[in-house]
Amino acid sequence: MSLYHETAEILSATSSTAGGNLKTGVFGKKDLKSPQQQVYALALETCKWSPVLKEVIDKSELLRHERKLSPLLALLLVHDYILAKGGIALPATHGLRASIERHKARLNAEFTRARLRRKAGSLEALREQIATEFLGEAAAYPRWVRVNILKTTVEDQLATTFATFSRVLSVSEVTATPGKFLYVDEHVPNLLAVSPSFEFAKTEAYTSGAIILQDKASCFPAYLLDPHVEDGDVIDSCAAPGNKTTHLASIVHSRIPENEEPTQTVYAFEKDSKRSRTLEKMVKLAGAKDIIRMNFGQDFLKADPNSDLFSNVGCLLLDPSCSGSGIVGRDDMPTVHLPDIPGSSKSQLSDSRRKRKRETNDDGKKKAQPVLVDDDGKETLVSSEKELKARLEALSSFQLTLLLHAFKFPAARRITYSTCSIHAEENEQVVLKALQSDVGKQRGWRILPRDRQVRGLREWPVRGSVDASDGDAEVADACIRSYKDDGRGVMGFFVAAFVRDVRPGLEDGDGPYIRDENGRIIRDHLGMPTSKLECRPETLRGSLPNNESTQDGHYEQVEHEEEDESMGSGDLSEPSSDSDLSGADEGEWNGFGD
Ligand code: SAM
Repeated sequence: MSLYHETAEILSATSSTAGGNLKTGVFGKKDLKSPQQQVYALALETCKWSPVLKEVIDKSELLRHERKLSPLLALLLVHDYILAKGGIALPATHGLRASIERHKARLNAEFTRARLRRKAGSLEALREQIATEFLGEAAAYPRWVRVNILKTTVEDQLATTFATFSRVLSVSEVTATPGKFLYVDEHVPNLLAVSPSFEFAKTEAYTSGAIILQDKASCFPAYLLDPHVEDGDVIDSCAAPGNKTTHLASIVHSRIPENEEPTQTVYAFEKDSKRSRTLEKMVKLAGAKDIIRMNFGQDFLKADPNSDLFSNVGCLLLDPSCSGSGIVGRDDMPTVHLPDIPGSSKSQLSDSRRKRKRETNDDGKKKAQPVLVDDDGKETLVSSEKELKARLEALSSFQLTLLLHAFKFPAARRITYSTCSIHAEENEQVVLKALQSDVGKQRGWRILPRDRQVRGLREWPVRGSVDASDGDAEVADACIRSYKDDGRGVMGFFVAAFVRDVRPGLEDGDGPYIRDENGRIIRDHLGMPTSKLECRPETLRGSLPNNESTQDGHYEQVEHEEEDESMGSGDLSEPSSDSDLSGADEGEWNGFGD
């Protein structure tokens, strides 16, 4: 069967069945003869262009002349004939190709007319218009761009990739009107919000790893973990595709004392070997190879917390598989505008968008739809509340197991736990169970209160639910949430941090260190310079300035926080997996390769 027949079959199957989903339809179909990526791209692009292509086909009367073509097949073929670089992917003598090319003069003329009717001066202008229209609901969300400071700076990106963008002062202005707008985020350093129709794929910054598409909320965990040099090594326990791992690496890198070699390692665990390859590619692209150590298919639960390798691990980031219920833009099946069948009175314009039941909460707000999204972005509709409950129970038990394992690392003093789920079972409830666990209590783990969090997240207004925290307002306030429909332009997300005293006096704060404006330590706890530059005699003579001393004799991290404010803010998305619930494979932990 040809690429076109296979794609038409999938489009018609996914549009007619309740809960149809293009991605699942393509990637879940094992017997496809054509490459899945090609089928998916053709189906998606055809849906995107279908309002224009329908006009072209109807006005050129293609279906009246070519009776053997179905409306869907005609759309797919005309799409490739007009818009694909290489035209229709069939031999010149093939009947299907001939059925389109016989009408090329009329098709081309109607395409030009359709463009002019939309007042688009060029094909490029039309592409932009179509991309914006196609975004639909997603047009209400900016593209979040994390500037990868391992490779570039916000200033450089504003002057190059985004030179033609107008800066606006609030995130809502980015999506309010079509165009090229940009907002430098006020909460997360090195993060930008950019107009959603902007096509990144072709920019040098994107292909070189200088910018990374990462939802704002997905940047919270690494920022909240806030690893400093004195925290030692860092573990990312569930790493692929690597957004947070590379974010961690960039933070670690930014704090390496000047003229010194990195002393910290970020250990990345990823259980799934296929996803490990994605992680490896991302680490390489982001320029983070020197800081991150990873091995294929390593299960975090198999890592021995007491092994020498991890004796210096002070910080852990846990972002396990979850229900994915907070993810934006994966809900809908794209709309296909079908051409009319000549002689048929019934309009063939068809909206194949899945009309899911919209349930509401008591306050009338939209409730989460019962859909689970796995780590590869595949959706599963949950047919009943009972099924949802069972799935959430299994997920939260797996999430808690991972968190309690993280609690066991002897030198650990800070851990973040995050999900892209909106369900309390996976969020506040896991936090409470972890705090009440034996290992949590024995090892002195507490929740990191809001007032000890990094500035941007202290100021982030959306907090955990008191109800979900069993009435504990302090825990709720320490938890950080985001909701996809609240106008802040972010996905649904949850993150909380845990802390404990490893060495009395140094636990939650910054310790008695003096930092430079980049947050690098320039004086240790004894007031001794840590960098060669600071060893000049005149600097050595001075004592620690009194006005930096706090009441308890520690030193505030004022400059570092100013720096955080001045830096801007940037998805790969990361849902959850059924297959990961068991947690552990057979086999022994064998350490990290170089
Ligand atoms: N943190 C990632 C990011 O920001 O790009 C997204 C992580 S995704 C939500 C969860 C990942 O954890 C999946 O790739 C899954 O294969 C992996 N995973 C699940 N259980 C694991 C385990 N026991 N050990 C290591 N990785 C695991």
